[in-house]
Amino acid sequence: MKKTVAVFWFRRDLRIEDNVGFYEALRSNDQVLPLFIFDPDILDPLEDRNDPRVTYMHQRLELLNEELMLMGSCLWVIHDQPINAFKQLIEEFSVQVVYTNNDYEPYAIKRDAAVRDLLKEHGVAFHGYKDQVIFEKDEILKSDGRPYTVFTSYSRRWKCMLSEKPIQLCEALAKDHLLQCEGLKISSLESLGFTSTERIVKPIDLSLEMLSQYELLRNIPAVDATSHLSVALRFGTISIRRVVLGVKQYEHFLNELIWREFFMQVLYHYPNVVWESFKPDYDRIEWVNDEECFLQWCEGRTGFPMVDAGMRELNETGMMNNRVRMVTASFLTKHLLIDWRWGEAYFARKLMDYELSSNNGNWQWVAGTGCDAAPYFRIFNPEQQLRRFDPEEKYIRRWIPEYGTSAYPHPMVDLGESRLRTLSAYKQALNRME
Ligand code: FAD
Repeated sequence: MKKTVAVFWFRRDLRIEDNVGFYEALRSNDQVLPLFIFDPDILDPLEDRNDPRVTYMHQRLELLNEELMLMGSCLWVIHDQPINAFKQLIEEFSVQVVYTNNDYEPYAIKRDAAVRDLLKEHGVAFHGYKDQVIFEKDEILKSDGRPYTVFTSYSRRWKCMLSEKPIQLCEALAKDHLLQCEGLKISSLESLGFTSTERIVKPIDLSLEMLSQYELLRNIPAVDATSHLSVALRFGTISIRRVVLGVKQYEHFLNELIWREFFMQVLYHYPNVVWESFKPDYDRIEWVNDEECFLQWCEGRTGFPMVDAGMRELNETGMMNNRVRMVTASFLTKHLLIDWRWGEAYFARKLMDYELSSNNGNWQWVAGTGCDAAPYFRIFNPEQQLRRFDPEEKYIRRWIPEYGTSAYPHPMVDLGESRLRTLSAYKQALNRME
């Protein structure tokens, strides 16, 4: 006799607390089997076999498993394509229904559609819930029914909706509905083809002190006065509802969380942004794409300290302050005239908080190619940015020990000339030659 179960499929929501799909699964009448799938279609293309994000995820899964074990259950972990994983589960159990939380990335949407079809063939329902955002899919649309592409109008509507629909957290979990099982060992990193690489993920700071000084200090990389929420939001180890409930009166901070959702809805409605500029005309830009220059940028050897400090910090820690991300991205696209997709891919490889929607949205914003982007002629001057945001040079000296000595490289470009070159390339692409 096969055991009758409902399955809850964890993906980017690695927590038990205030997890909508998990909560709904436990409200069903069946015993709930908690599932995680190591998907080779996601893991195998990762370039670095020592990718610290895989170690981090693995550690979080172990913690999740321990929490489930305290409830007499365990995390069922399968290393296979999701379709095969579900075939396996259907063989072993009498699966009644599969619960999960929605994911809005193009790959995830395709994957879920395939899983839904497979389950349907076996008479199994597939329920997806909104969990990683406050508002999803078509909840925030313009009066003409189309998605917003301008942040200010989107955020106004978002805030209005929030006041109309107060946030509800999930109530106490019906833990006795969890399938009782012996703790299973989670596949080792080695069996997944990875080696362990620890990265320090800074603790989340949502203190009143941080929130009240956020506007003033968020752009100062030497001070590091931001929340460090991004990794937790990426892996879903914290609930966005709980975060918003705690910070909603701090407008500047809330706006950043809305940017996150804005880019998620852009990606959901315009999945072509993964490959194309949001504004098609910008795909006519003739990028220089010099590989040696790109390497100098990647390694933090441009001779522009704000750029170099940022890139070295990224390479070493997997993190970088938002202001510095903007400066480094602007330098690559606007001073080296290298395609934003190259920079986006490098950040995707290195960032601990890598998130397709935010990374793509921000790169296109900086390059001027995205929706509601900075105008293309707005070009950050990395020297002015240094004087403004690191006037005492604390940040750059932390990351560039040889700064101020002959060992530090000379500036690789003339800022004035490269700026003019970029303006001309953009104008040409947009047919605005004077
Ligand atoms: P805080 O300043 O404390 O902000 C709180 C939260 O708000 C962040 O955790 C994040 O969820 C959200 N947020 C803040 N700024 C932005 C923003 N500009 N766009 C979208 N959401 C934002 N963020 C990612 O999470 N993943 C990425 O892959 C990513 N790539 C980026 C690439 C570039 C070129 C740029 C300019 C920005 C990128 N960001 C990305 C946005 C931002 O830099 C990080 O979210 C932020 O630095 C993370 O630190 P924090 O959690 O301390 O942020």
